[in-house]
Amino acid sequence: MVKNLIVGCGFSGATLAHKIATELNEEVVVIDAKNHIGGNCYDYYDHNGICIHQYGTHIFHTNLKNVWDFVSQFTKWNPYMHTVKGLIDGQLVPIPFNLNSIHQVFPKSIADKLETKLIEKFGFNVKVPILQLRGTGDKDLEFLADYIYEKIFLYYTLKQWGMKPEDLDPAVTGRVPVYISRDDRYFQDKYQGIPLQG
Ligand SMILES: Cc1cc2nc3c(=O)[nH]c(=O)nc-3n(C[C@H](O)[C@H](O)[C@H](O)COP(=O)(O)OP(=O)(O)OC[C@H]3O[C@@H](n4cnc5c(N)ncnc54)[C@H](O)[C@@H]3O)c2cc1C
Repeated sequence: MVKNLIVGCGFSGATLAHKIATELNEEVVVIDAKNHIGGNCYDYYDHNGICIHQYGTHIFHTNLKNVWDFVSQFTKWNPYMHTVKGLIDGQLVPIPFNLNSIHQVFPKSIADKLETKLIEKFGFNVKVPILQLRGTGDKDLEFLADYIYEKIFLYYTLKQWGMKPEDLDPAVTGRVPVYISRDDRYFQDKYQGIPLQG
């Protein structure tokens, strides 16, 4: 009789099953409600030979070398650094909102002032939630927090989730960050990529 049963064959279930099979040398049965493996990360090739990410594109990212080495046993990588742009008042602006975004949307004098204040208060290369900006008592940083909330979070949320802002928990809205950096990448992890063949 098989001793191990894993319910769910996403990343978690598949990794556990592999570990049980290879490290404990025991048989394992994996079941899934879906008719494929991979969970949310599942992708497949269509009749044109195009790789389709059925549940949305997935970029693998980690800072842990042992995790990267583990996954790299199973795939080669398409080196890929994700960047996201939001359309704000007719301009494509890096998201999460960072120092480049600030210089793009504000006149130089205001952008320079905001940059200096952010770096003095929080340092460089850190992500600060707008809730924290609101709590600084500094009118310029509060203005920036409100700007980011309105231009990035509010309308996105209304459109994407069909929710009114007042229905959202302030703890959630406050997590939207400003990234005090010139790095436009969405993830900062040391290891990033998309599996070469899905
Ligand atoms: C649109 C989208 C984009 C994302 N992009 C990224 C990204 O770029 N990078 C990143 O790192 N992460 C991303 N994520 C998150 C990533 O998908 C998850 O972290 C990852 O898939 C979690 O793996 P998991 O095995 O824990 O769960 P899942 O992938 O959800 O797998 C769980 C599996 O269990 C099965 N299951 C659950 N309950 C049962 C049951 N009772 N009986 C049988 N089967 C069951 C499900 O059918 C599913 O196949 C994204 C998620 C989404 C939705």
